[in-house]
Amino acid sequence: MPAKKKILVVEDETSIRSFIVINLSRAGYEVCEADSGEAALRKLDEERGIGVMLLDIMLPGIDGFEVCRRVRAGGSKIGIIMLTARTQEVDRVTGLMTGADDYVTKPFSPTELIARIDALYRRLDGVISEDTSKMVSGPFELNTRNRTLDKNGVRIRLTQVEYTIMRYFLENPDRAISREDMLSAVWGNDYIGELKIVDVNMRRLRLKIEDDPANPSYIQTVWGFGYKWNS
Ligand code: CA
Repeated sequence: MPAKKKILVVEDETSIRSFIVINLSRAGYEVCEADSGEAALRKLDEERGIGVMLLDIMLPGIDGFEVCRRVRAGGSKIGIIMLTARTQEVDRVTGLMTGADDYVTKPFSPTELIARIDALYRRLDGVISEDTSKMVSGPFELNTRNRTLDKNGVRIRLTQVEYTIMRYFLENPDRAISREDMLSAVWGNDYIGELKIVDVNMRRLRLKIEDDPANPSYIQTVWGFGYKWNS
């Protein structure tokens, strides 16, 4: 028997979330849920085999657009259907490059929602079954589908930012990367903040991945410039 298709439902309004969860479960899907953007990103890290995410836009904390942006920045190819409440939101989903695959406007019927999910699964078929999801460097294996990092087969728990930094390093091994480039690759071009955040995260990442964080052998500092991944 094939594995059940697994959906992540991200919606802060309990009544709407329950309604979706009940209907998808009845239709034979495996369903997990999150009530905020932050919780959604955690679920994507922890849970295996999520194929499609239903993503409400108006969420407490980071909104659906930002969740979508971060998921795509990390290279994930999961299907994303935005749940929109207003026409302005539809305009943003369709008008901007948010990385979403489709959108459904509230209120929607279970039948309509399931039809959209099935259609998306058909389009994704092959895309998410390709095994192009592993990047290996020395003792490290980064799985871009599950957004996980293993060192010598042992899982290292990373934040979304740390994961994205690791991915950028592995995509650019043995290349000096300026702090500015790292900032825009990880936080986005529109990030307004200090370069210092790059150093703060680099320090934390070293504590997690280096054998001896005081004498790092993987993440090398390029003085006055940035960092380099030693492959
Ligand atoms: Ca909401």
